[in-house]
Amino acid sequence: MPTGIYKRTEYHTATYFKKGQPSWNKGIKTPQIQSEKHGNWKGKDVSYVGMHMWVARHLGKPDTCEECGKSGLKGRQIHWANKSGEYKRDLSDWLRLCAKCHMEYDGTYPYLVAPYNQAHGK
Ligand SMILES: [Zn+2]
Repeated sequence: MPTGIYKRTEYHTATYFKKGQPSWNKGIKTPQIQSEKHGNWKGKDVSYVGMHMWVARHLGKPDTCEECGKSGLKGRQIHWANKSGEYKRDLSDWLRLCAKCHMEYDGTYPYLVAPYNQAHGK
């Protein structure tokens, strides 16, 4: 009969809190909540987001990747990529890339997604 189990658990819990020794539950897996934080993009991205809006205003939001030709992309599946890396107010400095191509293009995928998330209230 499992009558003793509760008491034992209670005892161990009490011991844990009293002595502050977490060893009793060593090896017990607890769910880990992973939260991704992009902490390094602020500042620079104020203009970064502004430039994206400017580009989108002039070029719209094409759903085709200019690199691989994949179409029907939307949201975070497709990005504005900047050729010079200087975020010029020059339409020829921008191209539309899918997430995969953009990642290969300049490796700034997380950096790019963060402003998107913020713009969408995430
Ligand atoms: Zn692509």
